[in-house]
Order: sequence, then structure tokens, then C-alpha cells
Amino acid sequence: MEEKKSSILKGKKGLIVGIANERSLAWGIANCIHQHGGELALTYQNDALKKRIIPLATKVNSNNIYEFDIQNYEKTPSFFKNLSQDFGNLDFIVHAVAFSDKEELKGDYVDTTKNNFLNTMEISCYSFTALIREALPFMNEKANFLTLSYYGAEKVIPHYNVMGIAKSALETSVKYLAVDLGKKGFRVNAISAGPLPTLAARSINGFNDMRKAHAERSPLKRNITHEEVANVSSFMLSELSSGITGATIPVDSGYGIMGI
Ligand code: NAD
Repeated sequence: MEEKKSSILKGKKGLIVGIANERSLAWGIANCIHQHGGELALTYQNDALKKRIIPLATKVNSNNIYEFDIQNYEKTPSFFKNLSQDFGNLDFIVHAVAFSDKEELKGDYVDTTKNNFLNTMEISCYSFTALIREALPFMNEKANFLTLSYYGAEKVIPHYNVMGIAKSALETSVKYLAVDLGKKGFRVNAISAGPLPTLAARSINGFNDMRKAHAERSPLKRNITHEEVANVSSFMLSELSSGITGATIPVDSGYGIMGI
């Protein structure tokens, strides 16, 4: 029997952007939303990732799977139009997308190239704003947008480099977007997750040291789990969090409160 956690997302339809495989934060979030009664449409970035997403889509009863490159701005309006025709309008969107050249996720930040700076900012920050703008005509009342950030936005984490700058900009975008969309009654938030082993995370030099420091120094003395991020995501996408917008919520075993 499939586990059902609750019905807090029953009747809600959402789009998840950012599943690469079963270790993706986006996959944990999708699975959890499904267990709370939500209905899902999923995207994959390119053909190479398609074979991984098909079995995952089956697990969450999703027949709506689309190839979608978030940088392909020309195709975004038709993507949302088709999605709305096939699946209906949306109650929420989860943006779990980031990228930077792994050659620049080692060494010093000062060596960041212009090309990689701009590309990292575009994929990891601007894409959230652009996605929301194109989605607006296809959103239901009380729509809800969620993105993923990391503590490297606030404090210096060795080798996180340009991604830290992109995450700071992303967290600030969340605040500006919350004001813009608050006029419509829509909400925009981020979750700042502790380090979890995923495809993207593995490209950060010294990622295992990040995990080790987190487990040693956080108040809970352990790393977080995919499920903990997913649980908070379901809460943030549900009416239970209706008073929260413009926020970056830490799911980090408390790591972010520590000084020394
Ligand atoms: P992941 O590699 O599983 O997911 C990253 C996703 O971004 C992939 O699905 C990839 O296809 C997608 N992507 C990149 N460029 C794209 C493009 N042009 N168009 C469409 N999709 C594109 O890794 P993840 O760790 O699950 O990352 C998801 C989010 O969580 C990212 O924003 C990441 O920064 C954030 N995050 C991760 C951690 C962690 O430790 N893993 C911690 C905090 C925040």
C-alpha cells in the first residue's frame, strides 16, 4: 500500500522543475507532495535525463512530463500554454535549479570568469523570476512559488564561490517577488537546505567537508535528510503556511545559528 501522509495538498496542482534523478531535492519534494495529496507535472532538462524521470513520474502518478530547459525563454510561453491545456492551471511551482561550471567551484572566488558568473546568475537566480513571470497567467488563486537556497548566500563557504553570490541574489529576489505578487495574494519563499549529496552538490570541491562540518557543528549534531527538506516544502506549499511570504526558511539542523 502506498503511504499517504495527509491531505494538506489535496486538490492542489503543481509543477516541479529540477528533477535529475532520485537523489534530487526536487524528487524528494515531489514524492512528499504526492503523499500529501498534491497532483504533479514534472520537467526534465534534456533528453539525457528523460529515462530517469519516467519511472519517478510513475511513482507519483504523473502523466504530465515535459522537456524544459529553463534558459530557453522563447519556448517558455508555449510550454505553460500546453501545460495548462493538458493539466490545468497551477497552484504552485517548485524551482530546484542551479548550475555553475565545476571548474569554478574550487579555488578562489576572485578567479570567477565573466562567462561563468553570468551563466550561474542566470540559471540559478534569474530563471526563477523569468519562470514566475511567464507562469502568472496560468496560476490559480493563492498561488505559491518555492525555490531552494543554501547558507553560502549568507556566509562564506569555501569553494561555493559564485554560487554563493547567486544564492544571495536569489534570496533577495524572493523578497522583491513576494512584494510584487503579494498584490495578487500569491506567495514566494525559499528553503535554505543543509548539504545533501546530489548531482549538483557533488560538483562542489570539498562537498564532503561541508557535510562533515555540518554534522559536527550544528545544534542537532547531524546532517539533514532529503525527507526533512521535502516535509517543510509540503508545509510551505500548503495553506498551513498561509501567513509566510518573502522568507528563506532554514532546514539545516540549526547550523545557521552558530557563531563558533
Ligand atoms: P540536482 O543536480 O539533482 O538538481 C539540479 C537540477 O537543476 C537538475 O535537475 C538540472 O537538470 C537542473 N538544471 C540545471 N540547469 C538547468 C536548465 N538550464 N534548465 C532546466 N533545468 C536545469 O541537485 P540538487 O542539489 O537537488 O539541486 C536542486 C536545488 O537545490 C539547487 O538550487 C541547489 O542549489 C539547491 N540546494 C542543494 C543543496 C544540496 O546540498 N544538494 C543544498 C541547498 C540548496
